[in-house]
Amino acid sequence: MADKKPKGKCCLVGAGPGDLGLVTLRAKECIEQAEVIVYDYLCNPEMLKWAPENAEIIYAGKKAGAHTLTQEEINALLVEKALAGKNVVRLKGGDPFVFGRGAEEAQALAAARIPFVVVPGITSAIAGPAYAGIPVTHRGKNSHVTFLTGHEDPEKAGSSIDFGALAQLGGTQVMLMGVERIESIAREMLAKGMRRDLPVALIRWATTGRQETLVGTLENIAERVTKSGFTAPAVAVFGEVVALREQLNWFEDRPLSGKRIVVTRTRTQAGVLSEELRALGADVIELPTIRIEPPNDLRAFAELVQEAHAYDWIVFTSPNGVTAFFDLFYKLYDDAREIGGARIAAIGAATAQRIKEFRLHVDLQPEEFVAEALVREFRKEGGVENLRILLARAEKARDLLPKELSALGAIVDEGFAYRTVPETRDETGARRRLLEEGADLITFTSSSTVENFLALDLPWPARMQVASIGPVTSQTARARGLEVAVEARRHDIPGLVEAVRKFFLGKSEE
Ligand code: SAH
Repeated sequence: MADKKPKGKCCLVGAGPGDLGLVTLRAKECIEQAEVIVYDYLCNPEMLKWAPENAEIIYAGKKAGAHTLTQEEINALLVEKALAGKNVVRLKGGDPFVFGRGAEEAQALAAARIPFVVVPGITSAIAGPAYAGIPVTHRGKNSHVTFLTGHEDPEKAGSSIDFGALAQLGGTQVMLMGVERIESIAREMLAKGMRRDLPVALIRWATTGRQETLVGTLENIAERVTKSGFTAPAVAVFGEVVALREQLNWFEDRPLSGKRIVVTRTRTQAGVLSEELRALGADVIELPTIRIEPPNDLRAFAELVQEAHAYDWIVFTSPNGVTAFFDLFYKLYDDAREIGGARIAAIGAATAQRIKEFRLHVDLQPEEFVAEALVREFRKEGGVENLRILLARAEKARDLLPKELSALGAIVDEGFAYRTVPETRDETGARRRLLEEGADLITFTSSSTVENFLALDLPWPARMQVASIGPVTSQTARARGLEVAVEARRHDIPGLVEAVRKFFLGKSEE
């Protein structure tokens, strides 16, 4: 039938155990091409930043608030979206076919004759122990591994796990979904003849900045869980290999392990700071306070961009302005030479860097990163009288620059390339996490991050201290009633990271 809509497809994708670096390249490709994404509680939501802007993103996990989808509803949702012609990505924590009910979803798709692919993921059953310094096999200790679910209460009739057989088998046993029932499971294992002093480890939120490990023996592990308030999600490992952790625990003793740190830059700028803090072991919450949107009058800006070649100078004041300008420019033209003889000025190193990324030379860059300095430079260059200047900038920017340049006799056109708006969405659940779990430290990298964060009006978590990139930012924070605990000596991202590291190092030595 000619008018029948082509069917979409569904990718069942393993999202790995949590650490973003443990997602496969194939998984990332799938996310980048998705039209609909249905994701779970245990997926690290930060990977959603790889999704196209207009992808429909559906949360299907538990803890979603009031409404939770049943497995049948999820199956039906995948089928429905794919039948509507969509490229659907079903993102599941760890590996989709390891205790994740991915098999049932694949069956529902197969039954509906929807083409599907499976992208295996790194399962928490292996990654959890590995990040706790526990190899699931060791030549000298065991020659087989068993994966089991702790979902079923062993004391209930009809439990399908034969603990007697497991006790006979020995080796390493890795159990998912069992923290809540650890007491009855351990009791059952003991009753079936497993050693009282068999080493046991529980690893919660494995591979993330929130990872914690609890070690004990089969006899005392349940008591330790209760005493320490240890909760799901966690992987349990039973076996001799657990003892190797004493020597191999590589992940949990990094300088910022156990510290939760908030990064307030925009989603596109947060990367480097977050990565460096994470590399030191911190649990980073990226909480962007603003986002970049197209200007209210995009057509007006496009008309100026189209005429770019007619200007003597094009002045950029921010990296966002550069990106907005060239994105449009290359939609209008397919040849860089269309920029003609226009020379290019940039305020700020990051702005100049972005221009270079578009393979264009920066003709003028004042040493100081402010508009006043640019006006001075133009003066030095012999003035701008009768020169045509295009300013590509944000809506609502200071109007000093156009005024001063006009006063020097230039013919100035202001192009509004973008606008910044408060970030109202919470797609990654960052705000919810901050409210529920609090944080140890919040980082501010400019006065505007302070202002924008406070404008969100979130309750300030108890114990959360402030780190600032330099005196100007600190001053803004103090003026708004905040106490600054850390100030970077060097006012850039590496300087801030170093200051944060020293701050916590000093504390742990107290
Ligand atoms: N398909 C998933 C498992 C889904 S079942 C996988 O391959 O990892 C859900 C269980 O997985 C949780 O109850 C917990 O036991 C375990 N789990 C998943 N991610 C985890 C993590 N980051 N840390 C600890 N346990 C995790």
